[in-house]
Amino acid sequence: MKTTVGHLINGEICVDGVRAQSVFNPSTGAASKQVDLATIATVEQAIASAQAAFPAWRNTPPAKRAQVMFRFKQLLEENADGICELIGEEHGKIHHDAMGELLRGIENVEYACGVPELVKGEHSRNVGPGIDSWSEFQPLGVVAGITPFNFPAMVPLWMYPMAIACGNTFVLKPSERDPSSTLFIAELLMEAGLPKGVLNVVNGDKEAVDVLLTDQRVKAVSFVGSTPIAEYIYSTANANGKRCQALGGAKNHAIVMPDADMDNAVNQLLGAAFGSSGERCMALSVAVAVGDEAADTLVSKLKEAMAPLKVGAFSNRENDFGPVITGAHRQKVTGYIDSAEADGATVVVDGRNPQVEGYREGFFVGATLIDNVTTEMKSYQEEIFGPVLQVVRANTMEQAMQMIDDHEYGNGTCIFTRDGEAARYFSDNIQVGMVGINVPLPVPVSYHSFGGWKRSLFGDLHAYGPDAVRFYTKRKTITQRWPSSGVREGVSFAFPS
Ligand code: NAD
Repeated sequence: MKTTVGHLINGEICVDGVRAQSVFNPSTGAASKQVDLATIATVEQAIASAQAAFPAWRNTPPAKRAQVMFRFKQLLEENADGICELIGEEHGKIHHDAMGELLRGIENVEYACGVPELVKGEHSRNVGPGIDSWSEFQPLGVVAGITPFNFPAMVPLWMYPMAIACGNTFVLKPSERDPSSTLFIAELLMEAGLPKGVLNVVNGDKEAVDVLLTDQRVKAVSFVGSTPIAEYIYSTANANGKRCQALGGAKNHAIVMPDADMDNAVNQLLGAAFGSSGERCMALSVAVAVGDEAADTLVSKLKEAMAPLKVGAFSNRENDFGPVITGAHRQKVTGYIDSAEADGATVVVDGRNPQVEGYREGFFVGATLIDNVTTEMKSYQEEIFGPVLQVVRANTMEQAMQMIDDHEYGNGTCIFTRDGEAARYFSDNIQVGMVGINVPLPVPVSYHSFGGWKRSLFGDLHAYGPDAVRFYTKRKTITQRWPSSGVREGVSFAFPS
């Protein structure tokens, strides 16, 4: 009998037992557990539980809410190894990578610990004679989060610590492909002293998501996942009168200038392209080399540096990266390599059939390098989300930048150069939301906010950081006068000025 991963509703773990789906260990290829898929009634119950918890939580002083976050941070640190193990079993990440994700998640809990400072509002005395005015940031009510498989710990932690710290209650719908670490972390928050019903977790698929998008009790939705689903979430949530931020897919380019420190650029590219098997929305999947000489040097150095890379099971901490998430996704990734080859690109290092001893059924793709890729190719235009680095050749920096601007995605990008003027021009003008200068994965720290441009984000506000305070609160501005006793005020029909 396989373990069933259930839901967390009003502080209790429960299972419907109506529909379920297998959860795989991608390193072995075996279905190791199953996840219960919430029915409409279960999601409605989760929303009702969040709704019931809201009035008391809204009125809990921000400093008390912050104390829960402090304890939560401590519990996350104490349980870090166990969480990384759960991530590895279901996602396939190696321990060092899972730990990196968790630490970036914990950063967001630390930011939420500062909530009294973040929501204290703005005050102006004497905006008129004897009149004071101030703005408050009030919570919205029940808010929902829908998250992807590739960061089962970090992305949910981008959302609910800040939403809850701001006084909202939350319903989270994690990825059904690797649900265990997300659920375990939510239980830690309950252990930290969060009142029942303030955070609820429902596992499920589109059926569960659609309830969150249409139920009038849900006031806002944060989504992170692929672009087609992000677009659907954004339009449906908006049509139902909800505030929504929906972060989508990516195709992140690195420009490699002829003057770049090539050995450093190669090392940075390896980690950013193949870390986590390329299953990161900030993975660098395209290197645009400026000039043929730079391109030839880059390709030959990358080829040499890729030879010792080790793909393998998550349980071996010596491996550089693990499997991709499912057998179907492995086929999709190798299909893109086939299509690039058929379109005339050169497969320099071929990861289509890696030999991973002892794990023949695992969902592995080896590190792959493809040269002479052009912008018309399908493998260039679409997100691959696998350990595949494509090299495109450009004659000038302007041409390289135009390529990036013309791409439908605008999540992250980077330039490798020693030229400050070129770097400044690049960061000033490129149509991308997160930019690195000799920094391959420019993921903002928790006190900035995270988000792409173009079809990498639907909505106005980015995830976490200062934008999260704005997203999870609504501003109320109060203007007050206490007439002095004995002063009689006249009638005025003019607009107050
Ligand atoms: P996905 O879009 O398949 O799933 C994301 C969530 O949406 C899951 O919870 C899933 O259950 C739900 N979902 C899936 N299909 C749905 C449907 N038809 N209707 C309603 N809900 C649905 O994404 P994924 O494969 O889990 O994650 C990988 C994708 O996420 C990549 O495209 C990656 O670039 C993107 N991503 C983006 C960011 C970012 O910050 N921009 C971060 C991480 C991942």
